[in-house]
Amino acid sequence: MTTSANDTSETSATSATIESALLQQRPVKMLIGGQWVEAASGKTFATLNPATGRTLAQVAEGDAEDINRAVAAARKAFESGPWPKMTPSQRGRLLWRVAELIEEHAEELALLETLDNGKPIRYSKASDVPLTADHFRYFAGWATKIEGETIPVSIPNMFTYTLREPLGVVGQIIPWNFPMQMASWKLAPALAAGNTVVLKPAEQTPLTALRIGELMCEAGFPDGVVNIVPGFGAAGAALAAHPDVDKIAFTGSTEVGKKVLQASAGNLKKVTLELGGKSPNIIFPDADMKWAIRGALTAIYFNSGQICTAGSRLFIHRSVYDETLGQLAEAANAMRVGAGMDPATEVGPVISQEQLDRVTGYIESGKSEGAVARTGGERLGGDLSDGYFLRPTVLDAVSDEMTVAREEIFGPVVVALPFEEVEEVAARANQSIYGLAAGVWTSDIKKAHKMVSLLKSGVVWVNTYNQFDAAAPFGGYRQSGYGREMGRAVLDAYTQIKTAWINLR
Ligand code: NDP
Repeated sequence: MTTSANDTSETSATSATIESALLQQRPVKMLIGGQWVEAASGKTFATLNPATGRTLAQVAEGDAEDINRAVAAARKAFESGPWPKMTPSQRGRLLWRVAELIEEHAEELALLETLDNGKPIRYSKASDVPLTADHFRYFAGWATKIEGETIPVSIPNMFTYTLREPLGVVGQIIPWNFPMQMASWKLAPALAAGNTVVLKPAEQTPLTALRIGELMCEAGFPDGVVNIVPGFGAAGAALAAHPDVDKIAFTGSTEVGKKVLQASAGNLKKVTLELGGKSPNIIFPDADMKWAIRGALTAIYFNSGQICTAGSRLFIHRSVYDETLGQLAEAANAMRVGAGMDPATEVGPVISQEQLDRVTGYIESGKSEGAVARTGGERLGGDLSDGYFLRPTVLDAVSDEMTVAREEIFGPVVVALPFEEVEEVAARANQSIYGLAAGVWTSDIKKAHKMVSLLKSGVVWVNTYNQFDAAAPFGGYRQSGYGREMGRAVLDAYTQIKTAWINLR
């Protein structure tokens, strides 16, 4: 295994500049009604750098009172003022401008994301920032294409048509694993459709969402259209229960997703949930093994395994099991683990001490049930001991029933499981409360299509993994949630249909 704790001097200098600038502008305020304000309570909380455990910034701590203020501002902006009078084209231009501003501030946003979340800067630059900009641009295009239909009813002299209208005030609650991308997945389609928004970022990673809020103000969004309230779970709960919120879009754990659903019942909010996963990644013996092993590494270690689609159950055909697992463990062991600010880093820290404890707890539970770590399994020390670094871990001698094979670990830990037959592996892969994503590695086109049809999940990747595009719908089956993000499909979640009957007689 290679560790890389030392930044290059140039990146380190930029990082130090941003860190000190952040610490100077204490506290980072919240966005309500077009104003940057402190929490009503005056409280703040610390957001940490997971690579060092040090405080990065103090942030205004929103609670139920701030959610009330933000919802009132969003309601006012939805009902009156410039927003409801804007044409779809004007809304689209604003979203397009946000994409441009994100690109103009790409370097700063990438650094901020890496500092706050810990992810390798190479991914913040190559993936998080461009995909965030792309999301705004893609939905800028949709603003002018949200169409109704004419309906050929069978009643004489009636002209019947539908309009697609916005829902109203939308509450959006996002997690810490892709803070900037998650903000764009939520904000862009909601605004393209003409809603107003109150966004609650995760307590661990509020900084890039707030920065994007600043860029949205700069782009010209009217006051109150976008409100961003950082805070703890209680702020999310207040948003989910608020009687004047029309819809909640939530991404996070299945456990909290269920709470959000219960809280939303009071005024029958529309709810969409993008929740957890325990995704199977299946390697057949006829696969191109070099790519399959690379793909299996990406599937589980990308973002330190903190991704809802993580390929955390690796099924390998028994005929190639030992050899493939040996190569995978060797490659995992060779990955460069280190501070995200180091451009050479491939695997950064996990998000927090709590998450580190949770993931190591799972590894210990696996071992106590008989699993064996082929590589990894422990926290890293030395230069990395202040951060939350874990070695990429491969668990062998696992059975389908073990906790580590059933529950979402959300860390750099894969469990390996041998299989023999197509139907058998599909049935075992489907044996989960989740159904978010699945991977298949084979050079047999018939087998590929068969697996696509057998696997019960919202996305199936064949000979690739973790591909996302603003145009391609994404979401879960079963307890991975419902509703879809991205593509045309997400617009259904942010609009409602009005049917008009005109008597022509
Ligand atoms: P949560 O589901 O708790 O957090 C997601 C978001 O919901 C955060 O903004 C959080 O706020 C907010 N929240 C927390 N409690 C409530 C509530 N009662 N009502 C409304 N909103 C609430 O995830 P965690 O951050 O606690 O992570 C725990 C585990 O969840 C992870 O280990 C992982 O297994 C899973 N997870 C899965 C994700 C996925 O995409 N599938 C994403 C994140 C986590 P706050 O940040 O203040 O807690």
